[in-house]
Formats: sequence, C-alpha cells, structure tokens
Amino acid sequence: MNKLDDKYFMDLALKEAEKALNNDEVPVGAVITSIGGNVISSAFNTVESDISCIMHAEINAILAAQKKLHNWRLDECSLYVTLEPCIMCCGAILLSRIGRVVYGAADPKGGVSSSILSGKIELTGGIMDEESSMLLKSFFKSKRENIRYNKSADEDGS
Ligand SMILES: [Zn+2]
Repeated sequence: MNKLDDKYFMDLALKEAEKALNNDEVPVGAVITSIGGNVISSAFNTVESDISCIMHAEINAILAAQKKLHNWRLDECSLYVTLEPCIMCCGAILLSRIGRVVYGAADPKGGVSSSILSGKIELTGGIMDEESSMLLKSFFKSKRENIRYNKSADEDGS
C-alpha cells in the first residue's frame, strides 16, 4: 500500500470520527481493510451510547470485521484509526493478529502503540494527523464551553 491509499482509508476513518462527533462521542473512527484494499468494517467510538469504557472505535471495527469474516484472525487485514491506539486496543490488535496499523494523530496521554506494537506488526503514524486532532480539539473545546455555560446558568439560578 502506498501513502495515497493510506490517506484514502484514513479519510474514511475520519468520516466515522465525524459520526462519533455528531453522536456526542469522543470523535475517533476506524476502518479495517482487506489485503486487496476492500473495506471490511468501519466504526466509531461508542463509549457513551453503549455506556461501556471498552467500546473504542478500534474494538467496534475489530468486532464487526470478525463477525463479517466469521474469523477472529484478521492477519491479512489493516486497521486505520484516527487516533493512536490505547493499551486496551493494542491488546485487541495483537490478539486479532491484524497485520498492519495506520493511525492519524499521536496520543501523548493514552497512546502506547509504538511501545507495544512496533517490532510486532507494521505500524505507520501521522497520516492526516492534523484533521484527526482538529476534530478532537473541537470536541473537547465545545465540552469545556458547555461546562462553562452550564456553570454560569447555575449561578444565574436558571
Ligand atoms: Zn482504545
């Protein structure tokens, strides 16, 4: 796969992240593709709607791909995700034997992919990272503004 293909699939993952944003979820999206470049599954973060801390975009995409292929082994697949995977998702990526991971924005807080995945599977980071982090920034900015707005509404007694 060349960089152009990576951008194409990351763009699809970004569209998933936008769906998360519209559902008031932390905007992270993921896409799983076959070796031939077909999309097997696409998903976004559903932690809030599922009331479950584990329903990250990667987990949702992995579950959907395994169901679709009737196979838990995804070794011929690539995973595109807009944010660097966390420790839980890295575990699921290794267990599902995904062959390649491409992520957008690095996550200095929760991202551990390079320390866990590198050397074990093919790992590429920083694809459309600006677009990915812009979505995240706008989400957290609006959350903070909402908190501020609600606080001042409380102080008004309304
Ligand atoms: Zn995760």
